[in-house]
Amino acid sequence: MENQSINIDNHIARKRFGQNFLENQAIINNILQIIAPNITDHFIEIGPGKGALTEYFIDKVSSLKVIELDKDLANHLKHKYRNKQIIIYQDDALKFDFTKLATTKQKLRIVGNLPYNISTPLLFHLLEHRHIIKDMHFMLQKEVVLRLCAQPKQKNYGRLSVMCNYFCDALMMLDVPPEAFNPQPKVDSAIVRLTIKENIPNKAKDLKLFAHIVKTAFSQRRKIISNTLKTIFTLEDFNKLNINYKSRAEELRVSDYIALANYQYNKRNNK
Ligand code: SAM
Repeated sequence: MENQSINIDNHIARKRFGQNFLENQAIINNILQIIAPNITDHFIEIGPGKGALTEYFIDKVSSLKVIELDKDLANHLKHKYRNKQIIIYQDDALKFDFTKLATTKQKLRIVGNLPYNISTPLLFHLLEHRHIIKDMHFMLQKEVVLRLCAQPKQKNYGRLSVMCNYFCDALMMLDVPPEAFNPQPKVDSAIVRLTIKENIPNKAKDLKLFAHIVKTAFSQRRKIISNTLKTIFTLEDFNKLNINYKSRAEELRVSDYIALANYQYNKRNNK
């Protein structure tokens, strides 16, 4: 029932919604210090759940909007915060049009203790709305945070690292153990800060082509790059770009992928 209180103590965590509720106050305080909400901020929280973080944003920022898929939890929040300045969308963040939230010229700050099962597609979805985003702070599976922040030649370096690095500066901020949640997840978690780059000095001329080349390269990350990309580039192309054709996908820098994509773009467009 819309706007009607539910007894939140009886809420059984729904696995399909990735519900692991934050309950450790010291960790919550640490997260808030990292995010450092400012009164002028325009905040969006994804997956507020029972409000572990939401509670602290209310009254601290000028605009707060939250997106929660679980109808019971969304209704609980609507009732609990009926007299507060908050807009609650009962919706799927994966399909949500974040750009429609940018009503002022001020860019959005996005936060969330995300459901781990959708974190990668959600990150890609959010990157499509990067023009209206200032920064994002997320609790994610630690392994995903390591991938987001990884550098070439590191074990966790992959497609996600390259794509994220192209658009954002990524920084791991805090380790969070399973005991901080109820129910406890089976994996370690961490907080990542993703700051959208205002200017990308070395741009890919065709983002789709860039994304396609990165995806293809990492489909066989340990193979020699000239083999994996042989339908797109010749050995001569690699030589012209000063990229060792014997490298593996995990050894190339973001700038190498941009160079490959732009070379192919120019070739296609006879430039
Ligand atoms: N923020 C709360 C906390 O820290 O205790 C809850 C975090 S819990 C890990 C993830 C939350 O995201 C749940 O409340 C879940 O219902 C919600 N959720 C799951 N899938 C979602 C989706 N596609 N869109 C929006 N919210 C979603």
